[in-house]
Amino acid sequence: MFNFNPSHKQAFKQGEVALVGAGPGDPDLLTLQAFRFIKQADVVVYDRLVSDEIMALLPENCEKVYVGKKQADHRVPQDGINQLLVEQAQLNKKVLRLKGGDPFVFGRGGEEAQFLLSHNVACHIVPGMTAASACTSYVGIPLTHRNVSQSCTFITGHLQSQKDGASNTDLPWHILADQKQTVVFYMGVKNLPMIIAKMVATGRNINTPAALIYKGTQKEQQVYKGQLSNLNDLVEQHNIKPPTLIVIGDVVNVFDESSLKNIGYLSNNE
Ligand code: SAH
Repeated sequence: MFNFNPSHKQAFKQGEVALVGAGPGDPDLLTLQAFRFIKQADVVVYDRLVSDEIMALLPENCEKVYVGKKQADHRVPQDGINQLLVEQAQLNKKVLRLKGGDPFVFGRGGEEAQFLLSHNVACHIVPGMTAASACTSYVGIPLTHRNVSQSCTFITGHLQSQKDGASNTDLPWHILADQKQTVVFYMGVKNLPMIIAKMVATGRNINTPAALIYKGTQKEQQVYKGQLSNLNDLVEQHNIKPPTLIVIGDVVNVFDESSLKNIGYLSNNE
């Protein structure tokens, strides 16, 4: 069963797993619910996207199991993670599965919950702030803006590898062409040249504003703005690596540089 009861605070019991969204890095963006679960954990199973500052909030005696993954180098395969969560729960611990952003947004939270439920392990799902929402706010890019963008798509740039080594480029490119739509790519850095080529080929204007946000909301946060036409150059010039969010659309330029200086958190970082 899902332990979900909107009228009461969810209690974290021994032998249960909590799939908790840690948000994009800044601990201030944790929900109070996430914080409560973090404080009670006996063991944490965590990814590389969870920031050090959030890890520092865990109880002192909490056991820490790292299952971080990079695209090419899956440290612990997903099956192993699923199995580990069940085993830890069966040891009667309070098992915290801590994930970057929101567990249900490109976080495999759904798969883990299915596996737990099919093994009769009760699980809590604690939402987190997803990168697209928080990282854009921190750099002054509204995801939607009246008369500029009426919709927003979150899309994965991590395309499935085919058995023959080729990439599956089978995304719904045609729906991304609308100039009044914001498109946010997660995990898109590696495939950026192909992503841009496909978007332009299916009708998106090559001069569409675009931004790269590296480690948004964290101390190392960097933002680079350009257009579809020069986004690849920016990646090379600044040697941009994951985790980076790619935001495409006219919303990128709603605020100009001078007004951004007056957004509190940006001016604090100067
Ligand atoms: N569940 C997460 C997404 C996991 S997929 C969420 O809801 O946010 C991993 C991708 O998310 C990264 O490759 C990057 O594109 C994006 N991402 C996550 N945290 C980020 C951050 N702090 N800054 C920039 N991008 C981030």
